[in-house]
Amino acid sequence: MSRFHFRCTECDATYGEDEARLVCPVCARNQEPGGVTRGVLDVELERLPASWPSVPASSPDFLTAFLPLASAEHLPPLAVGGTPLLPVPELRRELDMPRLWVKDDTRNPSGSTKDRASLLVVAKAREYGYPTVAAASTGNAATALAAVAAAAGIEAVVFVPADAPEAKLVQMLAYGARVFRIDGSYDDAFELCLESCDELGWYNRNTALNPFTIEGKKTAGLEIAAELAPEVPDAVLVTVGDGVILAGVAKGFADLERAGLIPRAPRLIAVQPEGSAAIASALRRGAPAITPVMDAASVADSLVVQTPRNALLCLRRVRESGGGGVAVSDDAIVEAIGRLARSAGVFAEPAAAAALAGLDVALEEGLVARDERVVLLITGTGLKDVPAARRAITWPEPIPPRLDAVVERL
Ligand SMILES: [Zn+2]
Repeated sequence: MSRFHFRCTECDATYGEDEARLVCPVCARNQEPGGVTRGVLDVELERLPASWPSVPASSPDFLTAFLPLASAEHLPPLAVGGTPLLPVPELRRELDMPRLWVKDDTRNPSGSTKDRASLLVVAKAREYGYPTVAAASTGNAATALAAVAAAAGIEAVVFVPADAPEAKLVQMLAYGARVFRIDGSYDDAFELCLESCDELGWYNRNTALNPFTIEGKKTAGLEIAAELAPEVPDAVLVTVGDGVILAGVAKGFADLERAGLIPRAPRLIAVQPEGSAAIASALRRGAPAITPVMDAASVADSLVVQTPRNALLCLRRVRESGGGGVAVSDDAIVEAIGRLARSAGVFAEPAAAAALAGLDVALEEGLVARDERVVLLITGTGLKDVPAARRAITWPEPIPPRLDAVVERL
């Protein structure tokens, strides 16, 4: 049984476990409507394992050792996490990076890293006795919540922009979620979800608000570290929308460092599309805070946010790690979809393939060296946005069913 408390990432105040507590009440007084989340809470376990558990990193015993769960009994019965860390020999050769890995998180049940957060949030909702969990999402978090809630037998209510990719909408509806398509942006959906949870008594899974979203995503960092131990990666590239996956990965390494299981944490490189680069720009300018990007837009729909809600913590974690931020063009993202698929066998959605595009920029800018141990976190499958992937390929014209036509085409 893991006992824990919350620590405010802004003012350092601590709070005991309280199911109604999502943010620090003191710092939340500075909350502006639609602004970055104030008073984001970190989970601090009272006791961390003193040695690597001798069980797989996604097993219930491992999860209860590292996550703030009262017991394994509320974990939804779904195979979340435990995704492969691929050595990608072809990509290593192309990039002349002999120690490059791809963490293939497309292999989660709903096809994205967001399943990790949903697993913990739904486990906590069951522990607290909530029948309904709600979330705002650009698509993947809603789909992840829908999948995990379905496995756990609780209701999922999700708020998504009306123009979310069709595959994500179909997927979340198939899992049986109650879906509200919002005539507005992700930011509008976020605010409406807050209001609905307050009024209707639902448990709020909003990313960058519910502290268990960051905590759940830390398992990606734990798994990378467990797989490479006793070595530690020098840098991990993570694509950034709200900045919660990056903060989660950072939390995983921070816990391991605190437990004495790794000697140091890796540098974190935040990758964003040029059209939605509030965090990467702040990192590059050395600015203390982000400037919201009005009319944010990119082919990488999962990364499109005006105001990254977890910006304060994300900036801090990247800076503490000695990392940095890069912005990549939509053309580079689309090109990276094809390159990652061809050279690593990993089919990624634009928001995930952007990590490879970001690696090119990070190499050019000297944020990463070719001989370092580098991990790309690939956060979502390409099946979530087939039209975007289609831009990365050449569509073959049909041929008659004859051998000479095959030979001619060769
Ligand atoms: Zn505070």
